[in-house]
Amino acid sequence: MKKVEFKIYGVVQGVGFRPFISKLATSLSLGGWVKNTSECVELELIGKEEKIEEFLQKLKGDPPPLSKIVKIEKIKEEPFHRSYKPPFKILKSEETKTVSRDKLWIPPDVGTCDACLKEIFSPNDRRYLYPFTNCTNCGPRFTIIIDLPYDREKTTMRAFKMCEDCEREYHDIRDRRFHAQPNACPKCGPQIKLLDREGKEVQGEPLENTLRFLKEGKILAIKGLGGFHLALDALNKEAIMELRRRKRRPHKPFALMAFAPERILKFAEITPEEKELLLSPARPIVLLKKKRNSILPEEIAPNNKYLGFMLPYTPLHYMITKEFDALVMTSGNLSDEPIVYENEEAISKLKDIADFFLIHNREIYTPCDDSIVINKSIIRRARGYTPLPIVGDEELPPILGCGGEEKASFALSRDNTIILSQYIGDLKDIEALDRYEMLIDRFKNLFGIEPRYVVCDLHPLYLSTKYAEKTGLPMLKVQHHHAHLASCMWENGLKNEVIGIILDGTGYGEDETIWGGEILVGDFLKFKRMAYFKPIPLPGGEKAIREPWRIALSYLRKIGKEELIKEAKAKEILRMLELGINSPLSSGCGRLFDAVSAFLGIRKEISYEAQAAIELEGIADENEEESYSTELSESNGRILIDWRKMWKELISDMEKGVPPEKCAMKFHNYVVNSLVEATNVVRKVTNINDVVLSGGVFQNQIILRKTIENLTKRGFKVYHHNEIPTNDQGLAVGQIAICASKIKKGEL
Ligand code: ZN
Ligand code: ZN
Ligand code: FE
Repeated sequence: MKKVEFKIYGVVQGVGFRPFISKLATSLSLGGWVKNTSECVELELIGKEEKIEEFLQKLKGDPPPLSKIVKIEKIKEEPFHRSYKPPFKILKSEETKTVSRDKLWIPPDVGTCDACLKEIFSPNDRRYLYPFTNCTNCGPRFTIIIDLPYDREKTTMRAFKMCEDCEREYHDIRDRRFHAQPNACPKCGPQIKLLDREGKEVQGEPLENTLRFLKEGKILAIKGLGGFHLALDALNKEAIMELRRRKRRPHKPFALMAFAPERILKFAEITPEEKELLLSPARPIVLLKKKRNSILPEEIAPNNKYLGFMLPYTPLHYMITKEFDALVMTSGNLSDEPIVYENEEAISKLKDIADFFLIHNREIYTPCDDSIVINKSIIRRARGYTPLPIVGDEELPPILGCGGEEKASFALSRDNTIILSQYIGDLKDIEALDRYEMLIDRFKNLFGIEPRYVVCDLHPLYLSTKYAEKTGLPMLKVQHHHAHLASCMWENGLKNEVIGIILDGTGYGEDETIWGGEILVGDFLKFKRMAYFKPIPLPGGEKAIREPWRIALSYLRKIGKEELIKEAKAKEILRMLELGINSPLSSGCGRLFDAVSAFLGIRKEISYEAQAAIELEGIADENEEESYSTELSESNGRILIDWRKMWKELISDMEKGVPPEKCAMKFHNYVVNSLVEATNVVRKVTNINDVVLSGGVFQNQIILRKTIENLTKRGFKVYHHNEIPTNDQGLAVGQIAICASKIKKGEL
């Protein structure tokens, strides 16, 4: 028998940790105790050594759902000889005056729990229909915390003094609201208000009016946890079209919110895993397979295979969605600007979009968008996940990773973790850049991190690169696709050299051309470019990305079939290509998708990022097993993935009248087969069997699934992203991993 004492650091308080520990210990017949301290959870275990080991394995493998363990420190260990082993106990919390901020962690916002939900719909409860009901298991956290340690006085709830009843709950250790910092009730807490576009209060009951206006087809700006949504009745086609017109957003899919999974089933399919995700405390938007012929207007997500659904995550959302099959709930912002989160800002910015504003007086301190998940992979990491640390097993020096530009996000390292910021937006927008800078300062302050190094992308014009240069810290620039590779290695705990299949639209290459269809071999210290898609000139650069028919023209010109593109401006663009004016070379895999989509007549010009590729995936007939011919060649010791045969066969299919659905799938198969073949060649040369998949193209579920399947069949060990976005939001993590390794090696 042994007696062992531990300290557990991480997001471990206010997440049901102590009861969990107590239950687990008792089930393994361990004695001892657990208690909260100002910095961590401390616990003592008494029992057989193998039982203590089992306890730790179970705790690490399956911790309480809202927690995140960063470190378990063993502080004492001694033999235990007495014959009586005391039962396991939860001890009184121990508070010390001086708390070191760099030991504290901040929990993310948590969706309304079942117990609170029951209260708000119980007419006799004192919180009946109260929109700000929460408890220790749910409610706002990250978005209301102004400073640490996490106490009410240091949150935006400090403006509200608890009434006697709330105070009693707060101090009663047996109560669900014991130390629930945002605790509130209708008597003492925040209130909602409905305003018109002039900011004047609408007479009457705000909730009733909100429901009435939504039913009439009005567009409402509704303040939530991390910012404003624009809401409307999702079955009202005119209202949807009106929002598209006012927002100048013709096609980009809108997110939806429904009261319960059963209601979503009318419109989309839900697997058991997806249901679990929808109901999880993070309540992300989950991309679900759209059902054909549902009554939901196609205009919600035109030509898209998926619908982005989330469940309500505040009592207010529950009270509103209860009355509808589904609501559109899209981020409240102007085109590419970051999400609006302050009352006055909302009215001034959104007055031409929303008819009414449902606001409240609980201030949002840190804005945070909704997260998006597809097939268990987070592709936009924000509310519900941020700022949970991503835990590794080695200590890291304090580094700021500046990320990319279009899906901007930064990261900071502390202890053995990387803390990735929420998705911010495109830094080319001045307001997004402001928010990026504000959030970097805020994270540094909240987590007590003073970075000693900064790492950024190799792209000289990225605004994140410029930010890095301004810090004056020792700086490292990392090639875009190397950062993608490292990000996937870090997430999967890999240390040794791997093959990385990195597919995206655009990344600055070491040779100053645009890369993006790459097979690399590398680790955290170095990489080699082994194979890539044969590059193509992009006539007009950025413009070609917005008008994919130009890229199709560029490809077809390479096989002498340019006459197949009938656009009015085709002649002019051909001249541009002939003279090589403003036509940068790109190996970006995303561009090949764009071109095929344009050629098949699916999408010739886009109104949101990756639209052509998304719609190509959307129509692909997954039952088609045939593929266009792959073709590998060599250039300067590197493998070139050629697409000329593919294009010729695609053209001949089109001429034979093969439906575009089949062509689209044969193209997807071609991409997968080409990559798998090239990876096989790389394995022969390097003897490396581990493959990481990263880059925005892997949001394409056909490409992701088939690449994993085919590589696995050939004996590769394949890793991809789940926690860290595969797109550019994940870059900052890879940048930090690379920077830390170089520091450790003395290379920086
Ligand atoms: Zn609750
Ligand atoms: Zn109260
Ligand atoms: Fe990228």
